[in-house]
Amino acid sequence: MRAMTAETRVSDRVAAISESVTLKVDAKAKALKSAGRPVIVFGAGEPDFPTPDYIVEAAAKACADTRNHRYTPAGGLPELKAAIAEKTLRDSGYEVDAAQVLVTNGGKQAIYEAFAAILNPGDEVVVPAPYWTTYPESIRLAGGVPVPVVADETTGYRVSVEQLEAARTERTKALLFVSPNNPTGSVYTREEVERIGRWAVEHGLWVLTDEIYEHLVYEGAEFHSMPVVVPEVRERCIVVNGVAKTYAMTGWRVGWAIGPKDVIKAAANYQSHATSNVANVSQVAALAAVSGDLSAVAEMRSAFDRRRRTIVRMLNEIDGFVCPNPEGAFYAYPAVKGVLGKEIRGKRPQSSAELAELILDEVEVAVVPGEAFGTPGYLRMSYALSDEDLVDGVSRIHKLIAEAKD
Ligand code: PMP
Repeated sequence: MRAMTAETRVSDRVAAISESVTLKVDAKAKALKSAGRPVIVFGAGEPDFPTPDYIVEAAAKACADTRNHRYTPAGGLPELKAAIAEKTLRDSGYEVDAAQVLVTNGGKQAIYEAFAAILNPGDEVVVPAPYWTTYPESIRLAGGVPVPVVADETTGYRVSVEQLEAARTERTKALLFVSPNNPTGSVYTREEVERIGRWAVEHGLWVLTDEIYEHLVYEGAEFHSMPVVVPEVRERCIVVNGVAKTYAMTGWRVGWAIGPKDVIKAAANYQSHATSNVANVSQVAALAAVSGDLSAVAEMRSAFDRRRRTIVRMLNEIDGFVCPNPEGAFYAYPAVKGVLGKEIRGKRPQSSAELAELILDEVEVAVVPGEAFGTPGYLRMSYALSDEDLVDGVSRIHKLIAEAKD
């Protein structure tokens, strides 16, 4: 018998998963905070607003309804699927049938199941980087191979068709597309979405397009849904979305995938064995959210926009930081390569991970290093925090970096 070492106790497949750096930073910051430290956290990937009252009230009522105490169809409550189809037509102009909708435990599960449904072992997925940490892990868990394509600050973190084409091989099965983007906040123009969509169609690729930040765009930037801009992509397109960011509902865990019926059916079969239906009370809350208007997100958007302008201005005032203007989501993604290797309080951070650690240790500000997103040399700063904390936090970083010596 083989000795049970720490390595062999956990399967190779699962042992290969890395811990989410974003959640790790968050956990360290929260631990410091609960120990009474005045930590300012730019780590969160969630709105700092409460879920709107009418949604919470719908959920409270749903708790008392005994129908919700039981199993419901694994793929989602029929009325929610219908409402998601309607909402999709209203918000992005994409007309879909309720049978094309799978309700999932957050957008995260939608991504995981979408890749599980379309990838065979060894299939490659082109993933523009900086990327949200979950994409490569969910591709790998489905047996696929993520192929990152890096776009840096000089192009506003947007990849070109030429770059995508250079990464394409005969094993390429799919493209991951997300706009607005986490972690960079970049938003692709309609022309760019069209060019990329046409490229995918030309090569028979699947597109998984993540639209979770569709309503968080600023300064005249517009969200464009790829299957609307390029209708030919629809037969190989899976749209991922959810209520988390639009309605400040990260904890309720409701997302969805929209795609061709055969793939959605296959993903629903998978879900029926993995998790069954999403909690009914959460689904009823999501139903109230997507059937209601968009005033709550409009309010959040104006607060985010104000903070966005402040953080970008303040970050660009720091020597060695370069922060392109993010036009969507709620993240700023400054390049900090100009600071690495300099001496700060007796330390010489050589990587953005070391710099993030130094910032947390010295001035008690939590930021997520670019390593988490496949691009060392950057920091992700969520501006979903109060205006006062935002100014205080960036000022602390500014003062610390001002001490840097060659
Ligand atoms: N996509 C992107 C780009 C995200 O940033 C997130 C949340 N961090 C999600 C999907 C998933 O959100 P949830 O699972 O909470 O719906």
